Amino acid sequence: MRTKSSEALYASAARLIPGGVNSPVRAFRAVGGTPRFIARGEGAHVFDVDGNEYVDYVLSWGPLILGHAHPAVVEAIANAALSGTSFGAPTGAETELAAAISRAMPSIQMIRFVNSGTEACMSAIRLARAFTGREKIIKCAGCYHGHADSLLVQAGSGALTLGTPSSPGVTRGAAADTLVAPYNDAAAVESVLKANPGQVACVIIEPIAGNMGFVRPKPGYLEALHAATWAAGALLIADEVMTGFRVAYGGAQSLYDFQPDLTCLGKVIGGGLPVGAFGGRRDVMERLAPVGDVYQAGTLSGNPLAMAAGLAQVRILSDGDTYAAIDARGEALVRGLRDAIERSGVSAHVDRIGSMWGLFFTREPVVDLATAQTADVEAFAKFFRAMLDRGVYLAPSQFEAAFLSTAHSPADVEATIEAARAALAVL
Ligand code: PMP
Repeated sequence: MRTKSSEALYASAARLIPGGVNSPVRAFRAVGGTPRFIARGEGAHVFDVDGNEYVDYVLSWGPLILGHAHPAVVEAIANAALSGTSFGAPTGAETELAAAISRAMPSIQMIRFVNSGTEACMSAIRLARAFTGREKIIKCAGCYHGHADSLLVQAGSGALTLGTPSSPGVTRGAAADTLVAPYNDAAAVESVLKANPGQVACVIIEPIAGNMGFVRPKPGYLEALHAATWAAGALLIADEVMTGFRVAYGGAQSLYDFQPDLTCLGKVIGGGLPVGAFGGRRDVMERLAPVGDVYQAGTLSGNPLAMAAGLAQVRILSDGDTYAAIDARGEALVRGLRDAIERSGVSAHVDRIGSMWGLFFTREPVVDLATAQTADVEAFAKFFRAMLDRGVYLAPSQFEAAFLSTAHSPADVEATIEAARAALAVL
């Protein structure tokens, strides 16, 4: 496989941009080799600058549930751009997307758009602190809620991949108010709440975890977490930046029986443009400026291009058949991968909810960060490179989830299973 052009671009990028990338997860640090510089994407495929083609399971880390350059999304962006790219004044599209989201997730009575998942989580936490008059927060080890200071404590995603889950540069003060519990352990959260009576503003959770690899919630976990949080007078924040409009139209909160006070969104609702949002209970959201006293703002928030892209994508997703179609594709993929793993004798397992899936190189069932870390990262790195060589682009880390889109065809799935058979044989 030719990589000359990617290597040249990477060398020049690395002189000006730390690590040659604008987000650490894009680097190939954990798997070796040169990050592929992408020339273009079409449907489920990306093409790099050397002309190599890949079946893409990264999909811009989740937003592209309809695949790359979906004609309706591109057209919506182009049309919006013709009328102007940003006004810093309200547009109707913001309310239209707000209404679509609120219909899909009835817990969201009011919403505010921001520019990234990081901003969404950071702002939701400020609001929860103001509303409850409390300062501490609880997050789970291995969950990632963006890179705001107080959230970079035992964080997942790139921070975990690079071995810096609690980043230098975060003050002791910012970190001290962040309490950490293991994922999938509601009793642990309950005891942290009891040990800090009247002090915890919120519990923030990835209802289905995707930033320590793909980890599903145990039966009853989210319900118990909700009950414990509610009993302690704290707010429950569902971080559905990754899962919203992805695992189901109504997100993880439509699949499990829990009701978040606030929800954070991003990725899919922006159709591949920079968007985040947070929303929830009206009485909480009305504390936000300019109605209330909690300050939160953004020059490009609710950007017309981003709203147009998000609306186009969400409209297509609202057709009930879309999720069933991806589900069928996901089932075929997982069945094929499980079969390939079984035949290879390699210690690994695959799991999936909707169009979100993941593979761990360990025999242990993975339920939290500690069990995720039993995975053999060397085996993953070898597998990743062997898959890349065979035209399958996975996230370059054992500790990331994978995604499917409506554009992945049965032939793409078949090709992926074939590649996996060969890649597993290399291990
Ligand atoms: N929360 C979750 C669950 C995420 O997966 C991510 C990003 N992967 C974020 C928050 C942060 O979003 P962003 O990268 O848009 O800042």
